[in-house]
Amino acid sequence: MVRDVKTNLLGLDRSGLEAFFVTLGEKPFRARQVMKWIYDRGVDDFDAMTDLGKALREKLNACAEIRGLEPSSEQRSADGTHKWLFSMDATNGIETVFIPEPDRGTLCISSQVGCALDCAFCSTAQQGFNRNLETAEIIGQVWTANRLLGRRPDGGWPVTNIVFMGMGEPLANYRRLVPAVRILLDDLGYGLSKRRVTVSTSGLVPALDRLANDCDVALALSLHAPNDALRDILVPINRKYPIAELMASAHRYISAQPHRHVTIEYVMLDGVNDSEKHAHELAALLAGLPCKVNLIPFNPFPETRYKRSPRPVIDRFRDVLMARGVLTITRRTRGDDIDAACGQLAGRVDDKSRRRERHRIARERTAEMEARA
Ligand code: SAH
Repeated sequence: MVRDVKTNLLGLDRSGLEAFFVTLGEKPFRARQVMKWIYDRGVDDFDAMTDLGKALREKLNACAEIRGLEPSSEQRSADGTHKWLFSMDATNGIETVFIPEPDRGTLCISSQVGCALDCAFCSTAQQGFNRNLETAEIIGQVWTANRLLGRRPDGGWPVTNIVFMGMGEPLANYRRLVPAVRILLDDLGYGLSKRRVTVSTSGLVPALDRLANDCDVALALSLHAPNDALRDILVPINRKYPIAELMASAHRYISAQPHRHVTIEYVMLDGVNDSEKHAHELAALLAGLPCKVNLIPFNPFPETRYKRSPRPVIDRFRDVLMARGVLTITRRTRGDDIDAACGQLAGRVDDKSRRRERHRIARERTAEMEARA
């Protein structure tokens, strides 16, 4: 049986697209022409691609498509942040957030429907996991956001920076991540400089080691704790890849990219990881690693038992790190009035991991124990 599934060209990086044209009996250079239409001009209609012959346009219409994502809702925060829920199918949706600043527009994109990693303080984790996104769905977030936002007054696209900090663990979807990053960096794709594309990971060490060779981008590590005992609880993947291994991998990543630094993400949880002692321990851990620490004030969500550290505690933590020579900034909370801030993206996940159920039972048990105490 012939399957009537068209190839979505948003899922193919330059070499993939060249190979695709060869299978159509065409010259590989067609990839260059088509990429210019897709990414530079934002076109999804083959008939508009006037430098392709009619026969080729018909061929493409028959077997290919350029299909962005369907927004099922859009919210706009008082601070200008946009959040979209893109529906993936009847039961699943992912969230994508646009954060405008005077000199740039950052799109925070998702890499999976849900997440399987179960970090204790993250609302996506509570949703469980359904599946990996396809490359076309990762790039589709960028392509669709640009089209929905419309061009800037100077004619450029509004998205100038990408952070893989939406739903999911990008390095757990490595095979689809790499071509997506290549499209973002390619001059015929979005042509973003590698400083403007950040992959954030909770620390899948083997994939991180591969990343340096496959595509050279900015790296953010979700550290969140300065020792294994605490990180085992907050970021459970630490039990598999403990801090020493993660740090060694970060050093390797950086040594392959001279003059670069790693961003260390550290969520500030009241009374959990925010003491001066933790700050000193963190400074010692980071000594010798070219890095910048990003303190993220915890963003609450309905089922959480954590609280945000008070501002003076965050400032004190920063001061200790700075005094020890670690460049530290506190991330400004954007879009929290529409639940678009870090760790608040929940999308719609038809959970296959049964994690949501386990979380619900655990919460009920805790509540029962607290009621009895
Ligand atoms: N899986 C990737 C991307 C996650 S989201 C990773 O782990 O890096 C991006 C950042 O937001 C991560 O550092 C994540 O730990 C952090 N985060 C998650 N939940 C949060 C919350 N409720 N408040 C603040 N930051 C949170």
